[in-house]
Amino acid sequence: MKIICIGRNYLEHVQELNNKLPTEPLFFLKPDTALVIRNRPFFYPEFSSDVHYEVELVFRICKVGKHIQEKFAPNYYKEIAIGLDMTARDLQREAASKGLPWEKAKGFDRSAPISPFVPIADYPDIANLNFSLQKNGETVQQGNSSQMIFSINKIIAHVSQFITLKTGDMFFTGTPPGVGPVQIGDKLEAFIEDKKMLMCNVR
Ligand code: MG
Repeated sequence: MKIICIGRNYLEHVQELNNKLPTEPLFFLKPDTALVIRNRPFFYPEFSSDVHYEVELVFRICKVGKHIQEKFAPNYYKEIAIGLDMTARDLQREAASKGLPWEKAKGFDRSAPISPFVPIADYPDIANLNFSLQKNGETVQQGNSSQMIFSINKIIAHVSQFITLKTGDMFFTGTPPGVGPVQIGDKLEAFIEDKKMLMCNVR
């Protein structure tokens, strides 16, 4: 299983970090050891002093595919979840400034807390899905999947040109504006529409 993450997929988030708008989906991977399930805690890593939350919709691949055309992409996923792309922003900025890869900043152990998956059939339209994140009971991020620069289907078409997608692979689809730091003791709660899907305490 691999975790494929899309960066810079919401305009206002691209702007808040002063990044350039991508002309094609920007992606990077997290290893399977990044995964945190069953509302287990996120442990603040000792190598960073500026860890940020990024709430993101996540979908899971349900069959093997390569060179998938956009029009056939809907056949490759049936379930959606919400996750946190936990990011060591200080390490990311340092790597980016030197033109180096992001793995240390994005792929470290437990950097991907994720909710249980639910069938996309449970929602009338996953291209118009509200999601949000609360930190200590206050809403800090709000997004809607219609605001993605690259849709789920475009993401699948693009990434599968380079990497074979396998059953169980997960895609983090990018974060809306409002990213910010966490501290030990913070409580993060992520919602799809009004339903709380994920709880994650920072320890
Ligand atoms: Mg992200």
